[in-house]
Amino acid sequence: MNGYNDYFSGGKRHVLVADDEFINRELLENILEDEYDILKAEDGEMAYEMIKQNRNTLSLILLDLMMPKLSGLELLACLKGDSELKGIPVIVLTSDQQSEVESLKKGAADFIPKPYPQSDVIKARISKAIELAEDRQIISATERDELTGLYTSEYFFRYCELFDKFYSTIDMDALCFDVDHFHVLNERFGIAVGDEILKSIAERLRTIFTDSDCILGRKTADTFLVYCPHREDYEEVAVRASQVCEELPAAIKIRIGVYASCDKKLVIHSRFDRAKLAADKIRNNYSAFVSFFQEALIEKELFAEKLVAEFPKALSEKQFQVYFQPKFDVRGGKPVLASAEALVRWVHPTLGMISPGAFIPLFEEDGLIARLDEYVWRGTAEKIADWKTRLGISVPVSVNLSRAEMYDPKLVELVECIAIDNGITTKDLYLEITESAYVRDADQIVERVKDLRTHGFFIEMDDFGSGYSSLNMIAELPIDALKLDMKFIRTAFEKQNDTRMISIVIDIADYLGVPVIAEGVETKEQYLELKKLGCAIIQGYYFSKPVPAEEFEKFLLEKKVSEG
Ligand code: C2E
Ligand code: CA
Ligand code: CA
Repeated sequence: MNGYNDYFSGGKRHVLVADDEFINRELLENILEDEYDILKAEDGEMAYEMIKQNRNTLSLILLDLMMPKLSGLELLACLKGDSELKGIPVIVLTSDQQSEVESLKKGAADFIPKPYPQSDVIKARISKAIELAEDRQIISATERDELTGLYTSEYFFRYCELFDKFYSTIDMDALCFDVDHFHVLNERFGIAVGDEILKSIAERLRTIFTDSDCILGRKTADTFLVYCPHREDYEEVAVRASQVCEELPAAIKIRIGVYASCDKKLVIHSRFDRAKLAADKIRNNYSAFVSFFQEALIEKELFAEKLVAEFPKALSEKQFQVYFQPKFDVRGGKPVLASAEALVRWVHPTLGMISPGAFIPLFEEDGLIARLDEYVWRGTAEKIADWKTRLGISVPVSVNLSRAEMYDPKLVELVECIAIDNGITTKDLYLEITESAYVRDADQIVERVKDLRTHGFFIEMDDFGSGYSSLNMIAELPIDALKLDMKFIRTAFEKQNDTRMISIVIDIADYLGVPVIAEGVETKEQYLELKKLGCAIIQGYYFSKPVPAEEFEKFLLEKKVSEG
């Protein structure tokens, strides 16, 4: 018996005996009932009905050819014409040799002649027919992805390898298609809609890659693989693929990673890993649809993997340090220290100082960011408390929150606890939330922000102007300050002092009744111009780079002195 039979050893398979003669039905039942559950039908129509009803559980049909209402051959034709029924094996029971051949041609798996042979022979033929049918089913189940009908990844890779053996000289591309934020679609519209989208994408890929030399597969939920002869029109392919979902309420973007003209010395999986690496490079990049693999990506990937792997050790060894950058209130005659921003640095034992831009995005992706941020928030709260007690002065310090943290139902409790644990108030800790966090799932984020404000936290919207929030939404935002995205400062002062965008943002802030913070201010000229335009707070290298806590104390002490 087969391996998988062992899995089903508890139950009996179902066999239908369709024969109009009572004595035959009884005879077969007698022979088989120890091993199978027997269903019985007295004529062709009755048999057909029972087959339809039991189509998912029936393992075999024993079919008499001479029956009233619907003959065995007619019934066989019905079964073979029905995609849901044609997989059930049929053994015909007949005394006519001519019919034996005909029924085999029509799709019967085997025949048993009448009068019946020894019961052992009958049993052996039945079990053989069932085994063959089940084997075939298992092979086809792993060959095709049920949802899309494309190859499963395992089969896909085997097929590609085989293809290479036959067509080693064809110049081939390995492609990886990925849907941006597919899980968001699933959450918003439901799995059924998600499935429809995947099916449409598969369908579209079939129409794009019609050539018989193209192999198509689905890897995971929303990742599709294509192995095809080299081509140059991938921008167009991307547009055609994305068009699939034009009627959708939410725009989706399909990214293509291309490993062009693959090196066939690499194992097939590695070729598609390269395509995937290329595709991931443009994740969350709204304007790029196609990305080509380059050797340099591997270096970057290895570096990223190293940082992620070393994170737990780095955290426990306190390799992360919090730096502080002062923010000055420039509304009066002289700039006054108003607050600071906590910015993390990784002081790596061999790589030296690594800036957060290199690891924060990686940690956000791997879900490590929450642990790092909690560490940073605690470290910051500790410092604020220390300055208060030791220096007799402190200013509020803002910490950065990542988007994912905004979904944590325990967030409010956590930050409040951190404040309490360190003996400071929620007013001492400001929270910077990037504008792009508000753009998606706005309702949920807005609720969380409201909750934080109710607990006394001061909320600064970071990188304002980069996230494309709608004016509609802005009017209802629960925030306490707007931080102008640095890009506005850059472009404003690069292009012969075109500060119109900055003025617009300041107008929006006025409308909301909140101050504007300009960050990334590097020169006196920028500082004076921004002050003139009405920026309340200025942060940037012009005043100070982010500095270690000890160095930051000088700003606090200066303030203390000037306040007398
Ligand atoms: P951000 O929140 O927009 O922080 C401002 C960035 O601008 C900081 O980069 C800061 O050092 C830099 N900067 C300040 N003044 C100037 C200037 O005058 N000129 C220029 N060119 N740059 C200036 P940094 O420290 O490399 O941080 C990069 C980003 O990493 C931050 O952007 C923030 O999004 C993220 N980040 C930093 N620390 C943390 C953290 O503890 N948690 C989280 N979740 N994110 C963090
Ligand atoms: Ca920030
Ligand atoms: Ca910022």
